[in-house]
Amino acid sequence: MVLSMSIADTYQRLRDEIPARVTIVVAAKTRSAEEMLEVIEAGATDIGHNYVQEAEQARAALGPDADRVRWHLIGHLQTNKINKALQVFDVMQTVDSLETARAIDTRAARFCRVVPVYIEVNSASEASKTGVAPDLKALAGLARGLCTFEHVRLDGLMTMGPLGAGDDVRAAFRKTRHLFDQLRGLGMTCLDTLSMGMTDSYRIAIEEGATMVRPGTIVFGPR
Ligand SMILES: *Cc1c(COP(=O)(O)O)cnc(C)c1O
Repeated sequence: MVLSMSIADTYQRLRDEIPARVTIVVAAKTRSAEEMLEVIEAGATDIGHNYVQEAEQARAALGPDADRVRWHLIGHLQTNKINKALQVFDVMQTVDSLETARAIDTRAARFCRVVPVYIEVNSASEASKTGVAPDLKALAGLARGLCTFEHVRLDGLMTMGPLGAGDDVRAAFRKTRHLFDQLRGLGMTCLDTLSMGMTDSYRIAIEEGATMVRPGTIVFGPR
């Protein structure tokens, strides 16, 4: 990457490169409000954040400009942070249990909200990672459970996959795409979002059917 390119330039180049049907969620962990404002001014539509408190501070610093984009939680959600998370995020990408979904549902009801959520899939079955096992039965069971909640709406699947851009990354994305298709094949056609791919892997993710990618470093530079 050329160091002299601005955040606005890198975002616009990426937006031009990536097909219009694929949503770009700009992953903004550790970035300042100034950096986020630059990418919002450049036309970003969606911002991803891993931490509730950091996102809350960023939103406060951005003021009304924060409302120009959708905010996605892309890090693990702790149950004791859900109230705050609901005030900061529009979309919860990392739901991986019925308990978490129920906790979101109960609190979202108090805010008269219906919260779009994705199920996080641990696509490479890594012990260190959160998410549901890449198993159709487990996923379909959780998906059916989620659909009984009035204040949670299941929109998609999200996965991290292994780091890098190797064959294992492609295999993990392919598996997640297959599960996504299988769930839709079971009639869960409300699932329309497949969120996968970061700076090193967004091209592979798009080749494997991602409808949403989450690059950070390529837009903002190294953390
Ligand atoms: C940090 C992060 C990203 C972006 O990673 P980059 O390598 O900076 O592009 C995407 N998704 C999640 C869940 C992340 O934590």
